[in-house]
Formats: sequence, structure tokens, C-alpha cells
Amino acid sequence: MDQKSTTLSKKKWGFRGNSELQAEPETTIRGALTLLMSNLNISDDRPVIPMSVSEPSAFPCFKTTQIATDAIAEAVKSSEFTSYPPTEGILPARRAVAEHLSKTLPDKLSPDDVFMTMGCQQAAQAILHVLGGSKLNILLPIPCFPYYDVYARSSRLEVRYYNLLPDKNWEVDLDSVIAVADENTVAMVIINPGNPCGNVFTYHHLKKVAETARELGILVVSDEVYAHIVFGENPYVPMGVFGSITPVITLGSISKRWLVPGWRIGWLVTHDPDGILKEHGIIKSIQQYFHVSTYPPAFIQGAIPDILAKTNDEFFSRILNLIKESANSCYEGIKDVPGITCPNKPQGSMCVMVKLDISVFEDIKDDLDFCVKLAKEESVLILPGVSVGLRNWLRVTFAIDQSYLEDGIKRLKSFCERHSKGA
Ligand SMILES: *Cc1c(COP(=O)(O)O)cnc(C)c1O
Repeated sequence: MDQKSTTLSKKKWGFRGNSELQAEPETTIRGALTLLMSNLNISDDRPVIPMSVSEPSAFPCFKTTQIATDAIAEAVKSSEFTSYPPTEGILPARRAVAEHLSKTLPDKLSPDDVFMTMGCQQAAQAILHVLGGSKLNILLPIPCFPYYDVYARSSRLEVRYYNLLPDKNWEVDLDSVIAVADENTVAMVIINPGNPCGNVFTYHHLKKVAETARELGILVVSDEVYAHIVFGENPYVPMGVFGSITPVITLGSISKRWLVPGWRIGWLVTHDPDGILKEHGIIKSIQQYFHVSTYPPAFIQGAIPDILAKTNDEFFSRILNLIKESANSCYEGIKDVPGITCPNKPQGSMCVMVKLDISVFEDIKDDLDFCVKLAKEESVLILPGVSVGLRNWLRVTFAIDQSYLEDGIKRLKSFCERHSKGA
């Protein structure tokens, strides 16, 4: 080796990965899932029951509508969408989203309030990036869809948690919001209909959330990716209804309601009737974010007007009925399983939180241990509560084919019975 390569080989590399992205694997859904899958027993001939991700599109009964697939095919065939789209999205798509959402809002949205994103996930990433800055903090619920935590930290936001109350159907504990907020708090995030809890906030409660946010001088970021997926007593109320109380940013997509998570299209929408977001440079920052980030493919945006305007109620109500039936059989089935209880019947979204009573079991250490052993012994995948911030709870996704769900609950029951003390 010559002199030069020796010195090079001794060079100490001056880089390292973003430490915020190196959390324990079980603290993200994908990470937990990878861990569980690696524990599956390949010699078990039974099918794997995926009660772990809200992705029913894997089952034939949860196929999207042909109106949506036709709209995509037409957009491709038209050759109209081959150029780079404008960074905030193509106008017909933004207009279609504005019209679609305005149907349930008191004030009409304009296309300028809408930014097209790669799913609700990019919308979340975008807004946290825009709000980020050292010394600032954001309020997230416990339990929470885990991406918010990672995105917030990666955006230099300190994360503070407020509680959701299982005894009050997972309503926001407004006292805990007030307790953790300070003058450096920029926003609070809510998810409604709720993932992971399967709850739906009432109009009255959302109004109180808005009033609390106003008092604190913060905005509300509302993840409504499950908009309209409600089947209990509370109707879906968009947070944008309260935009005149405090500024609201709504995140959404077609992933869940149209059962096409792989198409990667969604939106970020500002509800700012009093121009507060504009005045504080938030709108400008959102625009700048999309100037330097990526955005959804033009032809998928091109299909959005038809997808939103033409999908019929028959499709929505058929899918909603399937999800509702699954939610009911999940809730009823769990009543017979020793060691786990479901404090609230799910009213929306595709999943629910159930509480694990570890003391019932002989040889189970905690929720993660429970889920790993369940995967190994019964080929059933359920997300440990730790992935959504609640130790010794489980997040159960019920939006799967009925026969799989029944099989899954049966296996869950025999697992719990087998591991119970004195079994
Ligand atoms: C699925 C999900 C997302 C991601 O939605 P995409 O449109 O697939 O990016 C965001 N938030 C919540 C609460 C979800 O359940």
C-alpha cells in the first residue's frame, strides 16, 4: 500500500445517520411488523392473520371501485399528464379536493387552500417540517399513530404528549394539553376518526379542542385519513368546521376510504378564514416545502377529479358495512378472551385498542412479548401497544376479511387460554 492510501484508510468518517431515525424497531409500525414477521413459524400451514396493519385492500372483498381504476387508466391514456406537475399539485385536482371537502364545511375552500401530497403521510411530514425549529414543541396524543413522533423529531420539534382518556371514549384530556403547553408550543395533532383507538370525536368535543388551542395560541393539525369511515353513534365532523376559532390544517388521502394505499395520493388543506396562517408565513413555508420536496405523479393527480366526484354511495356503504360487521365481531369476540378487554366499542377507522392484563398470564412479560409469541405460535399479527405509545395494550386491526377475523380471534383466544395461570 502506498503512503496515500494508508492515510486514507485511517481517515475517520465524519458522518452518521440521523439518530432520530434509529429508535427501537418496535416504536414504528413497520419496525414492529418486521420484528413480528421474523418470528413467524414457517412450518405452520395455517394462513397468517394480519390484524396489524390497516390495509384491507389485500383481501378481494375490499377491492376499490372500478370508477377509480378507470379514472387512473383514462388519465394515463390521455397523455395529458406526462409533464412535471406544479409543485403544489395540478389545479383540477386541488379544485376537486376543495369541492369534495367543502361539502361538509361551513366556509367554502378554494383550490389555493389545497396542496397535493404523496398520501396523508407526506402531508404529515410536510406540516411538521414547516412548523419545525429549535426550541419549539408540538403536542401529540398518547396513544398516537407513531409516524408523528419520528417526523416531529426529525423536524427539530420537541415532542410533548397529552393524554387520550380511555374512560371517556378516548377524548382529548384537555387539562393535560394545557399542562404540557407553553409559549414555544406551535400546534397540537389530533387524529379523527382515531387510529389507534377507533374512536370518533363529537362536534362538542372538537369545538372544545379548538377553543383550548385558541387559548394557547396554537394551531390544530387534524389527521382525517379515516374521514367518513364511521359506524357508531358519533358522526364524522371535520375539524375545519372550527377554522374560525383557531387555524386548522387538515391532512387526508384516498388511501383508506378508497382502499388504495399504494396509489400514494393525499392532501394538506389549510382552514384559515382569518388569514392567521398567511400572516405568520405558514402558507409561504408550505409552498417552499413543496418547491424542494417531491409530489405525487401527475397522472394520479389527473385521476383525482373523477375519483372524488364519481365514486358512488353504493361503494362507500358496502365497504362501510363490511368494516362495521368486522368491528362488531372483533368487539364481541374479544369479550370471550381471557386477559384482554376492550374498553370502548370501535366507532370508526379500522382498528381498536385493547388492554392487556399481564397478571393473568403465566409466562408473558409484556405486550411486545405477547405479540412475538402470538406470531410464533398462532401466526396472528397484532401490534404491541408500545408501538403507539401505550405499554401493555394491543392495537387490533379488524378491517380484514370476516373469515380471517373469526379465525384470528379464535387463535387469539386459544393462545390466551394456553398461557393463562393455572392453565
Ligand atoms: C394510514 C394512515 C396514514 C397514512 O396514510 P397514507 O395516505 O397511506 O399516507 C396517516 N395517518 C393515519 C392515522 C393512518 O392510519
